[in-house]
Amino acid sequence: MSDTLQGALSQLKMAARHTEVPEEVLEALNFPKEVLTARISVRMDNGKRRSFEAWRCRYDDTRGPTKGGIRFHPEANLEEVVTLAFWMTFKCAVVNLPYGGGKGAIRVDPRELSRRELERLSRAYVHAFSSMIGPDRDIPAPDVYTNARIMGWMADEYSSLVGYPCPAVITGKPIPLGGSLGRDDATAKGGFYVLKNLLSEIGLENCEKRAIVQGFGNAGATIASLLHQDGWKVIAVSDTGGCVYDKTGLDLQKLANIKKERGSVTDYAKQISGSDIKTLTQDEMFALECDLLVPAALEDQITRDNAGSIKASVIMELANGPVTAEADSVLEKNGVTVIPDILANAGGVTVSYFEWVQNRQGFYWTEDEVQQKLRPIMEQGSSAVWSLAQKKDISLRTAAYVLGLERIADAIKAHGTQD
Ligand code: GLU
Repeated sequence: MSDTLQGALSQLKMAARHTEVPEEVLEALNFPKEVLTARISVRMDNGKRRSFEAWRCRYDDTRGPTKGGIRFHPEANLEEVVTLAFWMTFKCAVVNLPYGGGKGAIRVDPRELSRRELERLSRAYVHAFSSMIGPDRDIPAPDVYTNARIMGWMADEYSSLVGYPCPAVITGKPIPLGGSLGRDDATAKGGFYVLKNLLSEIGLENCEKRAIVQGFGNAGATIASLLHQDGWKVIAVSDTGGCVYDKTGLDLQKLANIKKERGSVTDYAKQISGSDIKTLTQDEMFALECDLLVPAALEDQITRDNAGSIKASVIMELANGPVTAEADSVLEKNGVTVIPDILANAGGVTVSYFEWVQNRQGFYWTEDEVQQKLRPIMEQGSSAVWSLAQKKDISLRTAAYVLGLERIADAIKAHGTQD
């Protein structure tokens, strides 16, 4: 078993100690309900066929159809997919969506494929997993290196397979194909609402408002600009190319333009003159003095090796699983507050839920309506997690797991048994 999956299961075990949940429920949640591995073969532009490994996992569907993204990544693997599906199960329960958790992936570097190859690959994924997915069974969405365009192709492919338009099979679609307004920036907005709701509780009300964002994809770039608009100074950001740092605050508009033109934020240091601008390694960036650190890239970034040097007083996890279980104990010992992924990044799946609801009712909401529905869900989730943490004297992560676990256990009980 990978360390990441083991770490996730150990978080569940830790939470279970603070609940009355029966052993049989914990035993069930130790394994995924259903996992499918498939080989996907695609004709490349040069006429040759290439085969890719792909997976979909439905971890648990007690609370409803399974829900979770599809990731295209060169290092994707089965255990990662299972772990991500496990996290989705708890995430949906924490914000009380009527969903279980799922996840999928293809082991591929999508940046090496042409647009047409990517389209063929995306459609082939739907073929391979057509018996698993469905609007009442398992509903995919975007994740790392997948986007609205890919979701559009996938929805179209599924609709051709079943013979009628079926937008509710997948979320995060382009707006003309039944996507929801507000889905694009929902992960960051949800995190921002959580942060605002807990600001005084986590001691950030009167801080210097210095933030660091790791990862400058959709979630990272959006949270950086939301923080900036709210009066924060974003002093460092990173992407796979490296990190840029300016203690007086980065110009986010310029940074976004540079990222778009050059593919990485690091050219910012070359293009913008200013004696305070530096490039750093990721570990140097993590060790900077700041109030808030937002990991918004991949899992396992803050580890036993670098956790001790972190000076942020709060970490808000917009990525899934960016802090390992070992790093978590170091951070807790050092008094760093961690707002856990299964709460902080739940805005994405919440607006996915709104998209699914709109698809099914055939009546679409304005951007304002979406925000008016998203904000209270994130506020209620974060307040519930905060009070539980206070009441039981546990970390926010353990409290989030306790909340999720109790809701899943209640659903298992409500389903009834034969004895
Ligand atoms: N991939 C996102 C996540 O990890 C969104 C999932 C969804 O919208 O279903 O939460």
